[in-house]
Amino acid sequence: MRITDDRYTRDRLRLDLALRLIRHEARTRTIRSWTGLTDDRIRKLYRSYVADAGHRDVRRHRGKSPRQSAFFMRNASIRREAAGLATLLCVLGLLKRDGGTLPGALEQLRFGENFCEAYETFLSLNERPQISFEHACHLLRSLEKQNEICLDDCEGCGSLLVIMRYAERPKVCEFCASSRPPARPGLSVGDC
Ligand SMILES: [Zn+2]
Repeated sequence: MRITDDRYTRDRLRLDLALRLIRHEARTRTIRSWTGLTDDRIRKLYRSYVADAGHRDVRRHRGKSPRQSAFFMRNASIRREAAGLATLLCVLGLLKRDGGTLPGALEQLRFGENFCEAYETFLSLNERPQISFEHACHLLRSLEKQNEICLDDCEGCGSLLVIMRYAERPKVCEFCASSRPPARPGLSVGDC
């Protein structure tokens, strides 16, 4: 009986998570690895979600996931978004730098739910976010590996910064940079 209950709960969690991922336009590959559902099952879920529920604006992405970490440095607003999202991932305990042991099926589902929670919070805080769900996954993976990007603290306010590991690091976050007057060398207070 217990086994049946557990299996039912897991199947329910699997389907709920898959639908949540479809809504976020996650790639089939991501949905498959996070939920353990087959491609066929995902295709059917996607079809019924889009066709039956009238969500025709949801797109299905089949190609490769984003791999460019430089994307997160592209402009000030993406840098601000990346810092905010990284903070949420840290707060929700999703960023594990040691890699840890391979999660079981249920842990994997819980991870997926928490990640969706982080991304949905991120969406609610940004009016027109440029970081897609798959970019958010890439941000997490890259911050875990720390090959190209890593975290640092802003010297102005102490908030988290996402920086390129081998490039010159910015001293302050985008918020501090935009709220501080630019330095004007050679001009003292007495000159004004
Ligand atoms: Zn700052």
